[in-house]
Amino acid sequence: MAKNFIYKFGGASVKDSSAIENLSKILRNRLRNQLVIVVSAMGKTTNSLEEIIWKKMSNEDFSQNCSILKEFHLGICKELFPQDHLIFSLLENLFIKLDKDLEKPINKQNYDEFYDRIVGYGELISSRIVAEYLCLQGQVVVWKDAREVIHTDSDFRFAKIDWEKTRTHTRAQWLPVLEQFPILTQGFIGSDSKGRPTTLGREGSDFTAAILATSLDASSVTIWKDVPGVLNADPKLFPNTQKFEELAYGEAAEMTYFGASVIHPKTIKPLANAGIPLFVKSFLDPDASGTKIHEKAPNQGIPTLVLKKNQVLVSFKVTDFTFIDEGHIHQIYEQLKKLKLRVNMLQLSAISVSVVIDSQVFKLDQLLAGLKSTFEIRYNEGLELLTVLHQNPDEIPALLEGYEVLLEQSTRNTFQAVRRKSGI
Ligand code: ASP
Ligand code: MG
Repeated sequence: MAKNFIYKFGGASVKDSSAIENLSKILRNRLRNQLVIVVSAMGKTTNSLEEIIWKKMSNEDFSQNCSILKEFHLGICKELFPQDHLIFSLLENLFIKLDKDLEKPINKQNYDEFYDRIVGYGELISSRIVAEYLCLQGQVVVWKDAREVIHTDSDFRFAKIDWEKTRTHTRAQWLPVLEQFPILTQGFIGSDSKGRPTTLGREGSDFTAAILATSLDASSVTIWKDVPGVLNADPKLFPNTQKFEELAYGEAAEMTYFGASVIHPKTIKPLANAGIPLFVKSFLDPDASGTKIHEKAPNQGIPTLVLKKNQVLVSFKVTDFTFIDEGHIHQIYEQLKKLKLRVNMLQLSAISVSVVIDSQVFKLDQLLAGLKSTFEIRYNEGLELLTVLHQNPDEIPALLEGYEVLLEQSTRNTFQAVRRKSGI
């Protein structure tokens, strides 16, 4: 019996009307029952919603941001649908709901919960538009609200999956539908045990695809991207990139761990555990081979470059003429854990601990406040973390040309440097 399979289309593949037309073209000879299509918010919608939330939080007027967002989606619909199409009232309703939710109070305590309720609209709106457009083309899909099957805890913005409940609900509610029709749904969003909207972390739609794949025992997941597959570096940042034909789960996971944005870091593990292959393919060249990530791929040893932006280097120095010991490290890690900050790089000296973390609103202040009685703390913001896997030492100097290096580490296999443009 043919099995279910999952397609995921990210923000860039639904960013405007021609992108949506292209999506429909890709599906022309691929659409059938047993397919689940996961879509993200259109283009930079999630960023726009984040800005609205931030303005609301800062008591600034955000009405113009809302109008721009609405006009953006309406503009796309005007190009895709006849004037009297149902989509216009569907959208009107969604924007009324969004306005209502934006009227609710926000403060530091409920910030994350408020955030999740609002950002999810990006996916709800885009999935409606794509589903209606496909149906208009005679490509019948059933629209489903992912929040009804993706169950999470209440850790807003970074919600963890309740795997058992998600599996049970996905199978019970979706398998009967999939026997006859493809389903179109949203990435990124879920709901907690009280039915409140949650999100799985930025760029989390890939992870949704993996969750659905394992829940439905799917035969494969395909992520459609604006690149030909998984490359050994981001072509927007580095010249002369190379595409991997195949990649082992472990290699792919390591790349995402260091910040490769081609796939969301949580995507690989559930697929690897279930042995479900992941294809990364180009939505601009859908018949090309792309990259297959699976169990048996040979280890290629090709130097692979990953750049993580918005990094902060924080150095904790002991002030009482003692040396750094396990107690100090423990104390720093406890605070980091409490704030859910992951250490991307760590360096110890006799009297200081340096950590490199992602820059996050509020959290740096909290981190400093929690530790300033024990340490003298210094930090640098606006940095980049460059990681080179399977490094070739001869190629490293060229990568650092024009940059000031604040911290550097090298093992036989991996090179890492925290850098910023010289002269800043
Ligand atoms: N729309 C969400 C984001 O931009 C989720 C995703 O695109 O995967 O983070
Ligand atoms: Mg995206």
